[in-house]
Amino acid sequence: MLEQKAGRLFLVTAPSGAGKSSLVAALLKADPTVHLSISHTTRAPRPGEENGREYHFVTVEEFEHLKEENAFLEWAYVHGNYYGTSKKWIAEELEKGHDVLLEIDWQGALQVKRLFPDVVGVFILPPSVEALRSRLNKRGTDSDEVIARRLAGAGAEMVHAGEFDYVIINDDFDRATGDLIAIVRASRLSFKTQAVRERKTFIHLGIPLL
Ligand code: 5GP
Repeated sequence: MLEQKAGRLFLVTAPSGAGKSSLVAALLKADPTVHLSISHTTRAPRPGEENGREYHFVTVEEFEHLKEENAFLEWAYVHGNYYGTSKKWIAEELEKGHDVLLEIDWQGALQVKRLFPDVVGVFILPPSVEALRSRLNKRGTDSDEVIARRLAGAGAEMVHAGEFDYVIINDDFDRATGDLIAIVRASRLSFKTQAVRERKTFIHLGIPLL
């Protein structure tokens, strides 16, 4: 297990089509102090995606090599592709006291939770199966086969919602964005986090740091 540093670690997980990436983008716009981890993936870039911005796009061989080097904090095989989070980048960011957000699947999220028990896990749900299907179709960037695979996997992903600290139902986008911002803000105010970030004030006020 790794000790909680001044930086907080957030996990955002959702089935494909629940609107996770849009919600995270809205959070980062509202709060640029949250640093988003860029994962490595063997998936091909979608139109408009850039290497190093949405993902570090790598070959299966490169991914295997990184895995062997123990470069990943966690990794998972999701919808036919490999995805992994860089261990070094996360450690450096947390060491600097930055808040870091991982947008990863439930398998990876549970691996991270084991390593960082203080991580804040958020699961995003769609309001209905129909809404999920309609969002996946509208995205227009995936083939019918990929959409069918992702929809079929959604139920199996959503049963893990109970393993997360918070659940947001993304029915109204602005409300859901507000919910995500609120979770991040409230998490920063936990006693444990404040005791690290406001250490001097706590000592000055004679508050035991536990
Ligand atoms: P997409 O291909 O739609 O970008 O992502 C597919 C799934 O992989 C999403 O659930 C996304 O959160 C997840 N994912 C992206 N990066 C990572 C990662 O580094 N680790 C894990 N475990 N899942 C990831």
